[in-house]
Parts: sequence; structure tokens; C-alpha cells
Amino acid sequence: MSADPSHDDPVADPEDLLAELAGVRAAVAAGRTTHVGFPVATDIDYSPLAPLFDALLNNIGDPWTDPAGTNHTKRFEREVLNWFGDLFHAPADDRWGYLTSGGTEGNLYALYLARARFPKGLVYHSADAHYSLPKCLDLLGMDAVVIRADERGEIDYDDLARMIDLHRDRPAIVVATCGTTMTEAVDDVPRIRAVLARAAVRHHLHVDGALAGLPLALADNGHALRLDSTVDSVSISGYKFLGTPVPCGVVLTRRTLQQQLGQAPNYTATVDTTISGSRSGHPALLLWYAIRSLGHAGLRERADRARELAAYTVDRLNEVSWPAWRHDHAFTVVFPTPPAEVTAKWVLASSDGRSHLICMPGVTKEVIDEFVADLAAAVDPRRRARKRRAPVRRTRRTADVAPPAPTPDVLYSAS
Ligand SMILES: *Cc1c(COP(=O)(O)O)cnc(C)c1O
Repeated sequence: MSADPSHDDPVADPEDLLAELAGVRAAVAAGRTTHVGFPVATDIDYSPLAPLFDALLNNIGDPWTDPAGTNHTKRFEREVLNWFGDLFHAPADDRWGYLTSGGTEGNLYALYLARARFPKGLVYHSADAHYSLPKCLDLLGMDAVVIRADERGEIDYDDLARMIDLHRDRPAIVVATCGTTMTEAVDDVPRIRAVLARAAVRHHLHVDGALAGLPLALADNGHALRLDSTVDSVSISGYKFLGTPVPCGVVLTRRTLQQQLGQAPNYTATVDTTISGSRSGHPALLLWYAIRSLGHAGLRERADRARELAAYTVDRLNEVSWPAWRHDHAFTVVFPTPPAEVTAKWVLASSDGRSHLICMPGVTKEVIDEFVADLAAAVDPRRRARKRRAPVRRTRRTADVAPPAPTPDVLYSAS
């Protein structure tokens, strides 16, 4: 190390910097078709918005108070929030929300609000809920009970009812997951509501709809997710189904609940109602552009095509004897983790011997065919080799037996 830091820190040649940036761009482009394990749509072209990335856009504070000056996009933010509010059937005269940095911040805000409502509230979420929840609960110092999930990732309603009953001296803050990370399971919100009604406890019902909330709300079949007077908050990721080039999200709740937090205006001329202070104004433009250019019909069609491709993927994988399944509504296809030569090329999400790929809009049939062909090629020689070998009698060792699933109904406490 030299004493003068400028020796080690020469100003770079602009050409070199551009070359490095071009390298990043090429790497991202190269991974585009093989990154099928993570839920990011790639079919919407946001390049018309590129010229707007040369200036700060700061949507500081509450979406319904405009800061001084013009470097914000609050008008677009309000339009996006109202669009989502309408989509989720949020009461027109009692809705509030803001554009977050992502689904995680939406969960954090919702739990923050629920804690203000019910300081002694006990949080219930399923064992398959997103990893952001325990983190948010830890930050907020809230107690939680983890409810069992079934094999396919859905919350166990009987376990939920039992646990709420066991702790009926405390208000219940229930988090339903709409689209779990591993299987895209959807906790049945009306059924959870029925559990809460029977338990007769005061409660806050939050829906973590980061992944599937938006495509499910777009569904036509009467099972659409609704944020009516019985759901208190919902969190959505903006960059998943809508594939925005920056992470972002939407949190929605009711204005009457939000007002209980009682924030006052400050020197920025805005009200500091959100978790983060300064917020990027770009997501408002990106989301506005996506919903305005595609409309309900265009967005619904994207969701339908994604589900069709997921169904196709299940069929193709089963054809090559790689047992795959999916939930009827899901873009996510679940199967045993493929051999290493497949996972070296294809970026899947894997855990406990199971993997998934997600047919987000932008994934094509050709991509799926290539994946299935790679898998078949990797598996076939092994199967043939196994058949050629003389059958040896294997004695079953205890290690071959899957350990029993953990029973995650323990009460954990942040305090
Ligand atoms: C992706 C996801 C999150 C986190 O959302 P981010 O936007 O990545 O912060 C939370 N919950 C669920 C169910 C998710 O799928």
C-alpha cells in the first residue's frame, strides 16, 4: 500500500470504463434465456424510458403530497396505485399505499402498520412463507408462530386455527402467501378469513402477493385476489411479473388504517409516511408504462400464456420421465433437481433435492425444449448404464430414508 492513495487510484480511461460496462451488458444478455429459476419477466421493452435515467427523480414522502420542484413522478405513482387499487377491489374511498423498493419493503410496512394497530399482536405465517418475513419480524421485534405447510407449500388451515385458538388472548396478525417461493402455492384467503371469523379474535390480515398477487388478481375466473374490507394489506413485487429493469414493488392498505400511524408534514413539504425517506421516482414511470401500454387484456394474456407454457413444461418433463408438477394457477414447475451438467448451464432455484423453473413472460417454448433436451441427454446415458449393470441387491440404510419433515409450529420470539 502506498501512502498516497492517488497512486493506486488513477483516473480510468473512459474507453476502459465503457468496455467494462459493455461487458456487464453482454453478460446479462447472455444469461437471459438460461436464468429460468427466478421470477423475472423479460418480454417488456422499457428502452423508451432510458432517456429519463439521466436525472434524479425523488418521490420523497407520501404519494399524495408533492415535494417542491419538478424532479418527482408522484402523479404517475398515484395513477399506478389507483390502478392496483382498482385491480384488487380496494374500496375507492378508503385506500392508501406507495411504491416500495420491492416485496420485502411491502411486507415490512404491512407488519409495521399491523404492529401499530395491535402492539400485542402475534404474527402467524406458514413455514413456506418468504424469508423476508422472519427478518421483518426481527426488525420490528414482533413475536410469531410458524404454521405448518403441506407438501405442495400451502398453509395448514387446521394448524392455523389451533394456534390462533391457543393464543386467543392476543390479536392475530396473519400473513397469507400468494405464490410461495418454491412451489408458487397460494394460501386460500377466504379460508383464512373463515378461520379468523370462527376464532373471533381481533386481527390484521396481510397478503404477501409478491410473486403471484398480480397475475392472480388479473385472473378472470372469480377466484381473483381481492383487497376488500376483509384484507388489510397486500404487498406485490413490481419487477417480477412486470419485469421492470429496477427492483420495485407496491404496498396497498386502507387509508383509515394508515392514518392511525399519525405522521405530520415536515420541511420537505411532504408527509413521511413510508419506510424509506427518499424513494426513486423511476419505478412509477416504469410501472405506469407497463400497465398503460399493455392494459388489463394484454397483461392477462401474458399470464395465460405463461400458464400454458408451464403446463407444456410439465408434460415435456414427464415425457422424458423427469417427474414434474405445478399448481393449476402457477407459472412455476417443480421437479427433482437435475444432474450437475444441467444446473451448470441452467440457473434454477433448488432446495432439498427439489428445483423449479418459472415460465415468466419472455420464456419461450424453444427455451423449454432446449432445457428438456439437455436434461434428457444428461439423464439418458446414466439410465442406460444403470440397466447394463448387473442388478445388485441393495440393503436399505437408514440414511436412504428421508428424515421426517420438521414440525415448524414452534413459537419464536424476537425479544
Ligand atoms: C420475491 C418475493 C418476496 C420479496 O420480494 P422482493 O421484491 O424481492 O423484495 C417476498 N415474498 C414472496 C412470496 C416473494 O416471492
